[in-house]
Amino acid sequence: MLSPQMLQKLNDQIRHEFYSSYAYLSMAAWFESQDLPGMANWMRLQSVEESAHAHKFFDYVLDRGAEVHLQGLAQPPIRFTSPLEVFEQALLHERGVTASINGLYAQALDDKDFASVQFLDWFVKEQVEEEKNASLVISQVKRVGNDGAALLQLDRELGQRKAEAAGAEAD
Ligand code: MG
Repeated sequence: MLSPQMLQKLNDQIRHEFYSSYAYLSMAAWFESQDLPGMANWMRLQSVEESAHAHKFFDYVLDRGAEVHLQGLAQPPIRFTSPLEVFEQALLHERGVTASINGLYAQALDDKDFASVQFLDWFVKEQVEEEKNASLVISQVKRVGNDGAALLQLDRELGQRKAEAAGAEAD
């Protein structure tokens, strides 16, 4: 059985993941408004991935025979000053998610809840990827600086990002 503390943290995590999805969708909307469809595509895919993460936690709580309690979502930021600011916010956000995944992991260890430890292993690895991806784009955007042509080139490259295969997402 999930401990009450673990269940609370899992329900909170469902909100964090849906909020992530919402925040990235808002970033996608801003990129669309700036005529940067490639960066918008990158953020839309990120949003879909975060929603899939939320569903993983949702299914896990149900699989453990516990109750899902969906919570309210805060309004995400809607205005930004530059592509660099958006990706820097994305990285800060991911660091916050990493901290909350680590909190879940610590709870699972405290509870000797080995099923949850195993479930969370995937997310621990995923957060390494998430932070790496955001950091990479930040350094690319910094390198572009004020070069408009280079920004359009980077936008085209980020537009090449494809949705992860369903299988990879479910592993
Ligand atoms: Mg996530």
